[in-house]
Amino acid sequence: MADKESNNKDAVEFPLIESTAKFLETVPPGEFRRLPREFFPNDAHGRTVLEWPAAEFYCHKCNGVRYADPDTSTISFGFDAGQERNSICDYHCRNCRTFLKRFAVVAYSPPAKPEGLGSIAKVGELPLFGPYVPTNVFQLLAEDVDAFQKGLRAEAQGLGIAAFAYYRRVVESQRTHIFDEIIAAAEHVGADSAMIERLKELRQHWRFQRSIDEVKDCLPQILLIEGQNPLELLHPVLSDSIHDRSDEEALEIASEIRLVLINLAERIALAKTQSDELKQAVGKLSARKANRGKEIKSET
Ligand SMILES: [Zn+2]
Repeated sequence: MADKESNNKDAVEFPLIESTAKFLETVPPGEFRRLPREFFPNDAHGRTVLEWPAAEFYCHKCNGVRYADPDTSTISFGFDAGQERNSICDYHCRNCRTFLKRFAVVAYSPPAKPEGLGSIAKVGELPLFGPYVPTNVFQLLAEDVDAFQKGLRAEAQGLGIAAFAYYRRVVESQRTHIFDEIIAAAEHVGADSAMIERLKELRQHWRFQRSIDEVKDCLPQILLIEGQNPLELLHPVLSDSIHDRSDEEALEIASEIRLVLINLAERIALAKTQSDELKQAVGKLSARKANRGKEIKSET
């Protein structure tokens, strides 16, 4: 019990977190955080409690970050100060009721001394802790989405070289599929045939090690990220050697690759839906026009 005791006594050494919700959303399992006393009020009977708060998580069904509600209201510590409790809680999307997260935590209520703080750590989290993966990314990365998620997990724990290696493998192994998705999106938005031919040619021959000039001006506007070609953005980081990079540099590059991939996936999906909506609207308009023509004819 010595370790558990010291967990609480040394609580002052752990970083402070502003709220229990923030703790659930942002801290990986295995790391203690201090929680201010205000999070440990007394219930109607005078027992110290810690509330399982509403928190925000990514919901794949709603396709965005949503509020989630806990299925357990509080952790009760009883009447004595400085108590340890384990607790498990499930979270469901407030909007669609889909299960989003299960947490197992160990929490310590504040000691008797007035300046003492409580502390909390996750014993486990399912699905595993890490940045969320928007649904569109699953389509872009196909069967390598698993390796992408391993990259996310490595990134979330600050393992830069590991995250970089996973992301690089994903992009290299899905290169052809990424081109297929880009070509499909370009065709959807009616990009000119020369551009599509160029993309098809690049799909066959392009390697990340080859010249950056080859990918210039080969994408329709809608797929550009802040005006820049995502293939151009991926090119230098993926042709780069990791051997002379520090873990911190690798982590920075890894997070850039992640952002470009997520953004590209969202833009491809947008290109497809926008053009579908446009086609539907144009179809409806021309049908209405045709009907009006008939009406006018029958009136005359
Ligand atoms: Zn939802």
